[in-house]
Amino acid sequence: MTAIQTPRNVTQVFKILAADKLAPEGLKYVEQQDDAELVNKPGLSEDELAKIVGEHDAMIVRSGVKVTAKVLEKPGRLKVIARAGVGVDNIDCEAATKHGILVVNTADASTITTAEHAFALMMALNRNIGPAYKKFTEGGWDRNKFEGHQLAGKTLGVVGFGRIGQTVARRAMAFEMDVVAYDPFINAQTMLDGKVKMFSQFADMLPHVDMLTFHVPLNDQTRGMLNAETFAQCRDGVLVINAARGGVVDETALIAAIDSGKCGGAAIDVFTKEPPPADHPLRTHPKVLCTPHLGASTEEAQQAVSVDAAAACLTYLRGEGIKGAVNAGGLRIDLSPEQAAYADLADRMAQLISPMVTRGISQVCIELVGKQLEGGKSMIERSALVALLRGHLSDPVNIINVNRVAEARGITVRTTTVEEDRVRGEQLVLEVIGPPDAVDSKTQPADRTRRIVGRVYDDMKPRVVEINGYHMDMIPAGDMIVLQNDDRPGMIGIVGTLMGKHKVNIADMTISRRPNPEGPGATALMVFKIDAAADKQALEQLKASEGILKVAAIKLPEEK
Ligand code: NAD
Repeated sequence: MTAIQTPRNVTQVFKILAADKLAPEGLKYVEQQDDAELVNKPGLSEDELAKIVGEHDAMIVRSGVKVTAKVLEKPGRLKVIARAGVGVDNIDCEAATKHGILVVNTADASTITTAEHAFALMMALNRNIGPAYKKFTEGGWDRNKFEGHQLAGKTLGVVGFGRIGQTVARRAMAFEMDVVAYDPFINAQTMLDGKVKMFSQFADMLPHVDMLTFHVPLNDQTRGMLNAETFAQCRDGVLVINAARGGVVDETALIAAIDSGKCGGAAIDVFTKEPPPADHPLRTHPKVLCTPHLGASTEEAQQAVSVDAAAACLTYLRGEGIKGAVNAGGLRIDLSPEQAAYADLADRMAQLISPMVTRGISQVCIELVGKQLEGGKSMIERSALVALLRGHLSDPVNIINVNRVAEARGITVRTTTVEEDRVRGEQLVLEVIGPPDAVDSKTQPADRTRRIVGRVYDDMKPRVVEINGYHMDMIPAGDMIVLQNDDRPGMIGIVGTLMGKHKVNIADMTISRRPNPEGPGATALMVFKIDAAADKQALEQLKASEGILKVAAIKLPEEK
């Protein structure tokens, strides 16, 4: 695997601690990045690690080092822990979440390797490679006894149609097998260009398959899913492959099914207890082929996990997204482009309105208009909350811990999704409500709510269409100034002259009045983009100018 170095504007160098022995490819990857510094210190004790961990932005581990609550007690600048591999049993994810530290793994990197292993087991099982080789090493030569079956023309049932399940399916189809699959979390009749029929009930699939291969996580639904009862639904002589997790196939039921002839044989890489006891019947059963949890054990996978772990850390630290999150608290990060654009909009809108939230927050209400945004609800909500709270709290706030932080502060968060209708198209409404005594007497009407509304149009660019009742159409990006002023002639001139005096170039300006600007106390809102941030003096003078009620300078991410 080659490390790709992208030229970038380096403003910060991230310190990456390799706390376990990593494949050299991963270390090299970090060294090649111009915004990363590698600290390679495998084998530290718990105390030693706890002492230095806070000096780093990211830590990469395998299964050797134990990342305990004690290690994370003083997290300092640590923002992400990457597990080069899949299992995170050695990481106290709860403690990491508490401190707002993201935990990621690199499940993708072992997909092909594990799928190949499952496939190798299936081939070996069909051709009796295990017992034939054993006999051979004992000096035997028994050709009739080990006659096998070919794969072509057989039906493979894939249980769990995620990364590995689909990778196995593609290989099986290349071997001219028919493939069907069961995965209750895939709501489709067929998959892989209509070539794989999907079943929504496990038992319904079983009578149709010659072989079953398992690629599901172990949980309450999958534990023992192939048992005496479900074996009864299978064809006689069904072959079973398990390279997922021990316990998915009930081991006692499996042995009974093999002994009764219901099951023609099994190939098992994973066990309920690993390693299984020396006298475990699966170890010596003539119709069972076992490997000691070798699914992900290839040189290529080890290289890939170390590079992927390093890349995942840097992606997160650079603010380019999250890959392989383990502790994001149910956060869905595989958003559709539209949902992702709304999450980005939520962040920009909240940043824009944040300086107007001067007296605290008791409630945040988010309304997503457009049912297609539902899947991105959690990410959109968290993006807005982070932007609202970050500037106000000294504790680290990020999308991992923001809901906890809000809850701990008694802030009520309510996010709803509603259908679009003829009046309201797709949009995002964010309302930040202050506590009852937070009435800002200067602003009319004197309510406690700050409200901002945004949309993403077909060009996928974010727009703000309303702030506190003022209507506009503006792309929230770059250096901006939001200004509330008396609605009277000459105000634009005052602002323009002052900005000119301070050599601040106004690139774009939106002026908005309330729908009913007449009457005493009428105010207007000016939002303008400037080419570079205005200095403190310019802002002070702006604030002091007659007729100007409020000024806030905001730096938003540039337009994408
Ligand atoms: P994945 O998350 O991409 O896919 C798992 C799939 O299982 C998902 O599509 C999910 O919808 C489905 N699923 C969840 N509950 C289900 C249920 N009750 N019934 C049917 N399907 C269900 O994961 P993956 O990367 O493909 O990994 C699959 C399994 O392989 C995991 O258990 C993983 O731990 C294991 N694994 C084993 C090894 C090894 O060394 N043998 C290596 C890597 C992964």
